[in-house]
Amino acid sequence: MAYVFDPPAQPSLKIQDSDKLFPVHRVYCVGRNYADHAREMGHDPDREPPFFFQKNPDTLIPDGATFPYPGKTSDVHFEIELVVALHKGGSDISVENANEHVFGYAVGIDMTRRDLQGEMKKMGRPWEIGKAFEKSAPCGPIFEKSATGELTHGRIWLKVNDEIRQDGDINQLIWNIPETISYLSGLFDLAPGDLIYTGTPAGVGAVNRGDVMHGGVDGLGEIRIPVE
Ligand code: MN
Repeated sequence: MAYVFDPPAQPSLKIQDSDKLFPVHRVYCVGRNYADHAREMGHDPDREPPFFFQKNPDTLIPDGATFPYPGKTSDVHFEIELVVALHKGGSDISVENANEHVFGYAVGIDMTRRDLQGEMKKMGRPWEIGKAFEKSAPCGPIFEKSATGELTHGRIWLKVNDEIRQDGDINQLIWNIPETISYLSGLFDLAPGDLIYTGTPAGVGAVNRGDVMHGGVDGLGEIRIPVE
């Protein structure tokens, strides 16, 4: 049967050194997955396991796109993150098999309306208005695991206007990539096209109109996102 109107465009990401696109299914994000960031947000990383929230796939914007300063906020934060892209789905995936599900990796920024997120936390309400707003998910091209190998370490950093603000290493992840995939697959049926933003190291902070965010992960290139 025909649709009553044209279906929305399939969200997708570019793949480095390829003329094919990666079609995006869901966007999962891990909260507080670096100990130093958990501490800066006022939590004890030894007592709190990481947790998950989602962004909508149509909030992704590519490297070089402009991030429009969103409404209803005066405190928009950057969170540089390693993004894992899956090409195989499943549920209850073992830690040992989890890396078989990984297609590749990318550099992402989990943009956050921190003031709205803070209000929602206080009231025990969901985080969508702080996390899943329009264009809240900058993400660079995906680097295929067949080229990079399995990522276990490497510098992750973000500068604002050429000033370093976040500088960590993905070997500091509290839950590493296979553990994150395994745990998440116990809560959701993972599918080809799923992305996982794996959490951010310390140093998160606010941006304003006119700033330029510039970040990278060793081996996965860099992204530049101006704030307009
Ligand atoms: Mn985050």
